[in-house]
Amino acid sequence: EECPADPEQQNSLRQVHNALFSFVHPTPPASEPYLIDFSTQMAEELGLDPSECERPEFALVMSGAAPMPGSKPYAQCYGGHQFGMWAGQLGDGRAISLGEVVGKNGQRWELQLKGAGKTPYSRRADGRAVLRSSIREYVASEAMAALGVPTTRALSIVGTGEKVLRDMFYTGNARFEPGAVVCRVAPSFVRFGTFQLPAQRGEGQEALVKVVADYVLRNHMPHLLQPPEGSGSDVSASNGPWNPYTALLREVCCSTGRLVAAWQSVGFTHGVLNTDNMSIHGLTIDYGPFGFMDRFDPYMTPNLTDLEGGKRYAFRNQPEIGQVNLVMLANALLSGELMSKEEAEQQLLLYSQVLVEDYTDRMRAKLGLRTYDAKLSTELMVLMYEDDADFTNTFRALGSIPAAGSSDAAQAPQKLPQRLAEAIGAPELTEEREAAWLQWLGAYQARLREEGVPDEVRMAKQNAANPKYIPRQHLLQYAIDDAENGDFSELARLMEVVTRPYDELPSADPKYSKPPPPEMLR
Ligand code: AMP
Ligand code: MG
Ligand code: MG
Repeated sequence: EECPADPEQQNSLRQVHNALFSFVHPTPPASEPYLIDFSTQMAEELGLDPSECERPEFALVMSGAAPMPGSKPYAQCYGGHQFGMWAGQLGDGRAISLGEVVGKNGQRWELQLKGAGKTPYSRRADGRAVLRSSIREYVASEAMAALGVPTTRALSIVGTGEKVLRDMFYTGNARFEPGAVVCRVAPSFVRFGTFQLPAQRGEGQEALVKVVADYVLRNHMPHLLQPPEGSGSDVSASNGPWNPYTALLREVCCSTGRLVAAWQSVGFTHGVLNTDNMSIHGLTIDYGPFGFMDRFDPYMTPNLTDLEGGKRYAFRNQPEIGQVNLVMLANALLSGELMSKEEAEQQLLLYSQVLVEDYTDRMRAKLGLRTYDAKLSTELMVLMYEDDADFTNTFRALGSIPAAGSSDAAQAPQKLPQRLAEAIGAPELTEEREAAWLQWLGAYQARLREEGVPDEVRMAKQNAANPKYIPRQHLLQYAIDDAENGDFSELARLMEVVTRPYDELPSADPKYSKPPPPEMLR
């Protein structure tokens, strides 16, 4: 209500000026929608009883076939820089928000359908989503949440019964795929690009930048409206009166720093880090060609269209791209004359500070140490890179390695422990490479002994920092292949393990914690 709406109320394509969203109607699917799965964790957060999700009405509402009582659906208007170029108005081309609900502990959640038909922002596309990409978004959202990585969530995935035409970028073939709708959930879906569009357009629309900022502050960050109590040393306050917009930028710099640190620590690559895919809440948003790495490869990019020289959105570039995108956000806030350049620059510095602090702390925890050890950490990464070690399993294996037993422990051990050997593919290592690992292992075990934490205590904490189950590309593909044949049981099994990533699940099929078999490598 605080944000101006597009006066036109139909789904036809248009440029929307002087407004931040358009009221739209979901387009009911042509066939009978059916529930594929719902997240019990997310339902619980929303205060929904699982039996409510199993009612036939649920699939109708969550596919856009029936209205949600009391809801006035809308699509957001935003722009963005795509692959470094200003792309103009983008907006929710296939996302339709149903509105907000209040969940557990008074938390406000926005529910959004992805794939429920065209909006004014659909450009040349169809407003639909296919089962394949919907399963990926649904599983990844809930897996990331369980991993402790900030993310938008997913409540449900509903099949529409429709066939949607998609062309395969790589093969050049077109094929019909089953349609689906995911219900995404987040405090809001405001992006960096929401601030950018009015700033870039000019024409007096800069005033809208302030409207967006005020909306975000009042509804989602009310604690920033006033200086925190006893804030003598506060950066924003030190240069004059309290500026909530500076505090907003600072909050986004810090939350984005924490987000990227979390990605780097679980081997996640987003793949499309355009500013329209950057959440103002520091959440992972828009699961497209994302990927978790199997073998450790900093150059890994899951986005096959990202062929630019240095693979712009590759794993190793994410920290820098976060910075670039924050600069775009700061520029938009500056166009709205909400702070001085100096104030903006000061806040931007916090991003890399928080990122590095958070990342080193996560690496410390992954190594099971009380204090960070740059040498041990870097040497391990180099070994992993050189021998194509499995990122997830190598770290997980560290949680079963005992501290050195005796005082002459600085000596390298004779043999690699079995779990570590498996994770790094030891049978194929040359003697020289194996010696390099054994030497690192010796130093590591000695360090553990020095720290003096009992093994059981350290291992329990360490296993809570190194996941065993992540949604690997090939595991998602198994679930997709079966789902496309009408069998959703593999999807359910995958959800069970990836929503308990840190647990040992002895009854789970071992395939869920293994790297891809050769035939699943691409
Ligand atoms: P993305 O690359 O997923 O961030 O999408 C970029 C823009 O294209 C956003 O405005 C999306 O809403 C829009 N878009 C992507 N896929 C579709 C689709 N199937 N129908 C309509 N709009 C889409
Ligand atoms: Mg997007
Ligand atoms: Mg997308």
